[in-house]
Amino acid sequence: MNQSNHQANVLIVDDVTRNIQIISAILKPEGYKIAFARSGEAALERVKDIPFDLILLDIMMPGIDGYETCRRLKNDPLYASEIQEIPVIFLTAKTDPDSVVKGFDIGAVDYITKPFRASELLARVKTHLKLKFALEDLQEANAAKDRFFSIIAHDLKGPFNSLLGYSDFLLNYWENYTNEKRKNFVKTINQQSNRLFRMLENLLNWSRMQLGKMEHQPAKIKLYLLSEPNLLLLKPQAEKKKIKLYSDIDKDTSAYGDSNMISTVIRNLISNAIKFTHPKGEIRITCQEDGDFRKITVSDTGIGIADENIVKLFRIDGHFSTYGTEKESGTGLGLILCKEFVEKNGGKLWVESEEGKGSKFSFTVPCFK
Ligand code: ADP
Repeated sequence: MNQSNHQANVLIVDDVTRNIQIISAILKPEGYKIAFARSGEAALERVKDIPFDLILLDIMMPGIDGYETCRRLKNDPLYASEIQEIPVIFLTAKTDPDSVVKGFDIGAVDYITKPFRASELLARVKTHLKLKFALEDLQEANAAKDRFFSIIAHDLKGPFNSLLGYSDFLLNYWENYTNEKRKNFVKTINQQSNRLFRMLENLLNWSRMQLGKMEHQPAKIKLYLLSEPNLLLLKPQAEKKKIKLYSDIDKDTSAYGDSNMISTVIRNLISNAIKFTHPKGEIRITCQEDGDFRKITVSDTGIGIADENIVKLFRIDGHFSTYGTEKESGTGLGLILCKEFVEKNGGKLWVESEEGKGSKFSFTVPCFK
């Protein structure tokens, strides 16, 4: 969240080179990234490649004019909603009320009249960018809120059914079962409670992060001391599926980060690898030096992820969650949290995956110096 600080991309559309130069000279010193197009047609192509935050659009141009350019941008289903929503400010020599009203009707947010006054142009650009980023932050916060409630209502509720069911069997029909059977019930209850607890932990960590209340205390960490307890914790889950777990993390390998956060990332990645790998598969955890970073990779021989789904993994509004190979449910929150934690510690998280062959989740954490 809070994109207000990022460097905004502004597209200037004008057939007159001089106008482009004047506007660039006003905006560039303020740190905006400027691109330009000399016609409406060229602008409609450029918006496909760069995520612009604002468009300054001349009305009178040869070929399609500014009105038509704006109309196509706002209405053509060819464009994704993010593109259709880029705010457009008309650049116009016309001050007659009709042309201004027409601009607003088509979807422009404002207009600036030529000849440009630097202070006015800057003020309008700043205001509309501020509005755009505030709207995006709001939409994200709203998606996060929806996600939070939906997790509580569906994803957390589901696993309780099996806990209640098995404990009910034990309580009311104890005599009907053999010791062996009872032990299996208790084992399932224990595994389900552990899973539910991990889900809840993710949810709480994530909401703390959203509220800005998550403590970040980086220090020298030994990666082995973070990976081993998690491997131990998740071993029963892997054993149940006869999945082999290998780790080559050396006892002495250190890094610099918040131990709670890095441990949560490792736990989530291993837990996912187990969840999405068929019985008798393999999972490897490796650690390599990568410049000033350590790169930790969790690779599995599991079901993999389709290309079109990879982009949805880290989006809070994407709500991408599928069942594991043994119908294990999830919240779709784990990877979003992992990415936030890794970035908070100055690293990156990414995935390489092939459907049917397996996945490789890697993240970096700075070396301790
Ligand atoms: P959850 O596992 O609780 O749904 P995550 O954010 O951890 O939430 O994962 C989101 C989705 O990404 C999973 O539901 C699954 O579809 C996919 N995924 C994550 N890790 C793997 C993996 N190792 N192999 C295949 N798919 C994965």
